[in-house]
Amino acid sequence: MKVMIGIFAFVIFACIGSFIGVCYDRIPKGEKVWKGRSHCDLCGRTLGAWELIPIVSFICLKGRCRKCKGKISIASTLIEICTAAVGTLAVLVYGLTVQGIVFGFAACILFEIALIDQKTMNISDLTCLLVALCGVVLTVVNGSYISSLIGMVCVSLPFFIIKLFGGMGMGDVKLMCAVGILLGWQQTLLAAFFGLIIASVAALILKATEKKGWKSEIPFGPYLCAGTYLSMLVGTQCIDAYLSLFP
Ligand SMILES: [Zn+2]
Repeated sequence: MKVMIGIFAFVIFACIGSFIGVCYDRIPKGEKVWKGRSHCDLCGRTLGAWELIPIVSFICLKGRCRKCKGKISIASTLIEICTAAVGTLAVLVYGLTVQGIVFGFAACILFEIALIDQKTMNISDLTCLLVALCGVVLTVVNGSYISSLIGMVCVSLPFFIIKLFGGMGMGDVKLMCAVGILLGWQQTLLAAFFGLIIASVAALILKATEKKGWKSEIPFGPYLCAGTYLSMLVGTQCIDAYLSLFP
């Protein structure tokens, strides 16, 4: 049964990944996401329906355009695979429950936010709203209103104060506000904590390899998304283990 759920989830999330691939391609160029069918970047030919099947098409076409035989970028296929993987893992961890399904979709949105923020240093209001919407569904189902309300501000408010001093973008503030609704206050604190650790490690690595100096701007969103995802998957276990230290 678990295998069947996994396969089904993988297919659904791969399709979402396909859309995220389009976003990743078009948003940084300032193009409309909803407008126009996908086309070959090299010869401009509009792609047929069977060339748009996530992952499968790329493998069947051996990574080349059917007409001009030019190499198709593997980026969109990698995005499809990664989106499917993060979404499916969330569903498998929580099973075929409302929480599992909502977390699966939220994981895909977080992945999109991380990708776009990495490229454009911008987190769109719409994506934050989608995360918040996932949160509202879960809050209503679980009846965890108080936890979500505290979650909305417990990280976003400190972030907003840091933002006033110019250390953070408004996108990060909105993102953590939405994550607060989704995860509740405890796991949201943990998400920020994980995010900070991952960001610190990444900054050290970038510094060590001299790719970026200390002063250069690095988007914080991708690390927050990674931290949120981690907290989503293992947060409750971490919090339980931590609380058991204080009998
Ligand atoms: Zn072509």
